[in-house]
Amino acid sequence: MKFPTRAIHVPGVRHEGAVAPPIHLSTTFEHGPANEALGDYEYVRSGNPNVNELEARLASLEGGCAALAYASGMAASTALMSSLEPGSEVLIHRDTYYDTRTIAIELMEPLGIRHRVLDLRDDDELDAALSEKTAMIWLETPSNPRLDVLDVRALANKAHAAGAKLTVDGTFATPAVQQPLELGADYVMHSMTKFMGGHSDIMGGALIFRDDDALAERLRQRRTLSGGVLSPFNAWLIARGLQTLDCRMDRHAANALSIANMLDAHAAVERTNYPFLESSPDCALARRQMRSGGGMLSFEVAGGRDAAIRVASRVRLFVNATSLGGVESLLEHRASIEGPNSMSPDNLLRVSVGLEHPDDLLADLEAALD
Ligand SMILES: *Cc1c(COP(=O)(O)O)cnc(C)c1O
Repeated sequence: MKFPTRAIHVPGVRHEGAVAPPIHLSTTFEHGPANEALGDYEYVRSGNPNVNELEARLASLEGGCAALAYASGMAASTALMSSLEPGSEVLIHRDTYYDTRTIAIELMEPLGIRHRVLDLRDDDELDAALSEKTAMIWLETPSNPRLDVLDVRALANKAHAAGAKLTVDGTFATPAVQQPLELGADYVMHSMTKFMGGHSDIMGGALIFRDDDALAERLRQRRTLSGGVLSPFNAWLIARGLQTLDCRMDRHAANALSIANMLDAHAAVERTNYPFLESSPDCALARRQMRSGGGMLSFEVAGGRDAAIRVASRVRLFVNATSLGGVESLLEHRASIEGPNSMSPDNLLRVSVGLEHPDDLLADLEAALD
């Protein structure tokens, strides 16, 4: 079955004829007098019908052998990175979600897991960094906030030749737009707080495993112990969001392409970052590994930081807010939110393009840039 069908129907799952799935809020499930199992569930921290069904759906949508849902994207990233052996090293692309680099510093260093930040598009830099200690390459494509497009197949080959694994944070693209496991990645991580939830009202994260079911099982046990599980209600809402993901992403991407083309031609804009922008050097690669350019873009305003802040202060329809992937369009000066260690250009504004009519979005941005 094709992606949109698999996003709507989970084979074999029946809810006593109910067309919409129920929410199971019970934290505990009956067992026999000596803890004999009477069903599949025991206690909510180790499993819940809504969470398990969501995981089956995620594994199917990404083409993986298993999936694990977490309370947030950061809980998922932390779980995967901290599974590496002490003394091993993670290579992280330079343009990566700010907090991913922060957990590498704050949480992994004390565990003896080292990292290096480098430009994974530079073969010489990558070859020099790879060593027998390299256990994982970690990247986002497209990346946050510069929308770098990285060659998943080529980097998977590099990682595997060095005996390492490749993790792709697919939050910006979602499985509706890009299938990293099919391109050779070993693990996909998602912040489901974004497009997958899709309505700016839930937090969740996921890991999907291509074939490493031993690691999936180990991380499932660790999650039960450490407790970073997704709540049943959030699992229910995310499953609901996934049913419309495919058509939402089409509209997000169509709107984003219209805006990127306008910005690219605008005199007040120095640079526009969007994977499917014809003038972008990333366009050919993006077309090979993505079904559309997705709903995220960023642009650099001529005139530096002050000019960028001025544009951000003049939008009326776009909301100045962090996060992304909801129905409403958001805009954000990344350097301001990332703080002192930010690697984002001072004049960069990141845009999460929503599902409003493109004419209204274009008019609002054009007026702000005037
Ligand atoms: C938001 C985000 C995360 C973190 O996810 P949370 O759900 O906020 O914990 C990780 N990676 C990317 C690319 C993100 O946008």
